[in-house]
Amino acid sequence: MNDPGTDSQLEAGRRKLRLRKRWVFGLWLGFIPVNIAVHLGLKALFGAGSQALSVPFSLVYLLTFGVAGLLLSGAPCPRCQEPFFIRTSPNLTGSFRLWEQGGSLLAVRCVHCALPL
Ligand SMILES: [Zn+2]
Repeated sequence: MNDPGTDSQLEAGRRKLRLRKRWVFGLWLGFIPVNIAVHLGLKALFGAGSQALSVPFSLVYLLTFGVAGLLLSGAPCPRCQEPFFIRTSPNLTGSFRLWEQGGSLLAVRCVHCALPL
């Protein structure tokens, strides 16, 4: 028997994870076209001095992408509360090494409890 309150909380958590994932992959896919468009726009407005603005814009864009990726990778599963995309193991020494623990931001199920995204 399903508890409707729990199901709606799971669905809200899954919706939040999907939204975060879309933001991260949107930022990833948009890096080149957005930066080219901003660079061309700034060049049309400011001419030769546009690099003084387009380079900081690119750095802020990359920083935003990095923060969004970190927030997504550590996002908890709405069912088991473990990181949805990163496998953690109690057998490890406590050091955090993603390449040793496994997981992927491309995962469509929780790596711990298999809750579908
Ligand atoms: Zn889970």
